[in-house]
Amino acid sequence: MPAYPITDHIYDVVVVGAGGSGLRATLGMGMAGLKTACITKVFPTRSHTVAAQGGISAALGNMGPDDWRWHFYDSVKGSDWLGDQDAIEFMCHNAMQAVIELEHFGVPFSRTPEGKIYQRPFGGHTTEYGEGPMAKRACAAADRTGHAIIHTLYQQSLKHNAEFFVEYFALDLIMDEDGGCVGVMAWNLEDGSIHRFHAHLVVLATGGYGRAFFSTTQAHTCTGDGNAMALRAGVPMQDPEFFQFHPTGVYGAGVLITEGSRGEGGYLTNAEGERFMERYAPHAKDLASRDVVSRAMTIEIREGRGCGPNKDHIMLHLEHLDPKVLHERLPGISETAKIFAGVDVTREPIPVLPTAHYAMGGVPTNYHGEALNPTAADPERVVPGLMAIGEAACVSVHGANRLGTNSLLDLVVFGRAAAHRAAELVQPGAPHKPLPASAGDNAVARLDKVRNAKGRLKAGEIRLAMQRTMQADCAIFRGPTLANGVAKIADVTASLNDLVLSDRSMIWNTDLVEALELDNLLAQSTVTMGSALARTESRGAHAREDYPDRDDVHWLKHSLAWLDAAGKVRLGYRPVHLNTMSNEVESIPPKARVY
Ligand SMILES: Cc1cc2nc3c(=O)[nH]c(=O)nc-3n(C[C@H](O)[C@H](O)[C@H](O)COP(=O)(O)OP(=O)(O)OC[C@H]3O[C@@H](n4cnc5c(N)ncnc54)[C@H](O)[C@@H]3O)c2cc1C
Repeated sequence: MPAYPITDHIYDVVVVGAGGSGLRATLGMGMAGLKTACITKVFPTRSHTVAAQGGISAALGNMGPDDWRWHFYDSVKGSDWLGDQDAIEFMCHNAMQAVIELEHFGVPFSRTPEGKIYQRPFGGHTTEYGEGPMAKRACAAADRTGHAIIHTLYQQSLKHNAEFFVEYFALDLIMDEDGGCVGVMAWNLEDGSIHRFHAHLVVLATGGYGRAFFSTTQAHTCTGDGNAMALRAGVPMQDPEFFQFHPTGVYGAGVLITEGSRGEGGYLTNAEGERFMERYAPHAKDLASRDVVSRAMTIEIREGRGCGPNKDHIMLHLEHLDPKVLHERLPGISETAKIFAGVDVTREPIPVLPTAHYAMGGVPTNYHGEALNPTAADPERVVPGLMAIGEAACVSVHGANRLGTNSLLDLVVFGRAAAHRAAELVQPGAPHKPLPASAGDNAVARLDKVRNAKGRLKAGEIRLAMQRTMQADCAIFRGPTLANGVAKIADVTASLNDLVLSDRSMIWNTDLVEALELDNLLAQSTVTMGSALARTESRGAHAREDYPDRDDVHWLKHSLAWLDAAGKVRLGYRPVHLNTMSNEVESIPPKARVY
């Protein structure tokens, strides 16, 4: 192996990722006086959070009655009881303050005539513990809420002296002999240099892995790098079998049309022009939870009631809405529909199809953001020095199915909580544990191996095989083909040995970046398939045709999936927290989930 000169850095904390969660944590660490570095493979405001459209939830009650306990109830029910109720309480109870804080940071929310933050209905958000009408809880900046939030958080981070390492690609964690994390290795894409960051705490805020699927609303950068780094460090993924499909991706392109469009009054029809959601969810109709709507759409298409010459999509209608509402509240998706579907939303419906959208699973954490590596004896065992937040983490506030607008909330609530915890754990400037002698060697060896791959298959070919397999065998409905899917993903992973790279330079080598990302995606696909095959029930986004019912007796528990060096999945389980944190709200015992 050629020598790779290494540049060393020492920080109190290193945050990997500059999306909403990474920026909120970075900002909080800076406020606490911790010397903080934020490493990101793309410019901060290009992180996927910028694409979030519909809103961020908080029971502010600006436009009708609301209560954070109703939000809690909706989130527990939305999670199909797999969410940890103490963490959900923490999130919903802190939501109002978190959104007001964003407002004070400078997020330009849309306004009501009285000047309050504008709020719209969203899927699964109800009042009166599911008994009342739909709540207006999603705080929105038109349909560009993520854009507004990420720009504000980036500016605030700069104000608090965070140091950014932009276009640095994190390769692997540095672990010590005791299984704790002491730093992270990164590759500077711009000049090709390798960097070793030594820190008391590393925070993974690397986002989701939607690119494991053929059709996804997620950016090309959403490749689960942080999750794969955790897996390689011996930390499991929790609940990776739960992957959310959003009902309304633009047919063919997969680009998102926000659920906020149904919140503003949009509805779905089949080829017969029927508003079929009334049959599946008589109460919430088009605003039922995402898993429910995505399955209903898929059934309509399967039963021959899909739209278009190939009967393969559904129509989303907005043309009955006041053009003023479309212009003020949904300008972004009006443009998206024009560009990607050639549709003028004021005149015609948008062809849509459910599309891979959000990873409910991730690195298991407690509500402080500390990463866990559970054992049977200690299901809450913390990994010293490692945290995870945002979509990369599984707290678990989303359980088996996330409610729309609860992710942006999760980012800021747990980004902030992680910063508070870091301030308790780390004394600014305290001396560091020594690095192991071999620190970073594995990361460099992996980079070197991929860089010099001389097989026959391009990364793009292998990626396509992976994406097609995930889409065919591990999407909205899963069933008898799952075992086959597991075998196919193993074959695709093995084909990495036959990888070829056309560019062997170190400077802006996108070929190498994509190959490393592909390796990371394959690790995610492997644990997703493995835990999906094992879970013989249907819950939330995990719908097994061969096991159509939820089975609380055997499966009211979190999956844990470790990946060994040979690429084999080892499964374990961990109890769901069915208790709340305080007595301000009562825990909700499992019951049938109907909308
Ligand atoms: C189109 C779309 C619309 C959405 N709309 C909403 C909505 O309205 N409301 C809502 O609540 N949720 C919404 N979501 C979900 C939500 O936006 C995401 O779950 C959330 O933004 C993820 O934030 P994050 O901080 O975890 O990661 P991201 O925003 O994905 O950021 C990941 C960061 O990690 C960095 N990174 C990754 N790998 C590496 C590496 N190897 N080295 C260095 N850096 C790395 C990236 O550079 C980036 O900065 C939407 C999602 C999509 C895709």
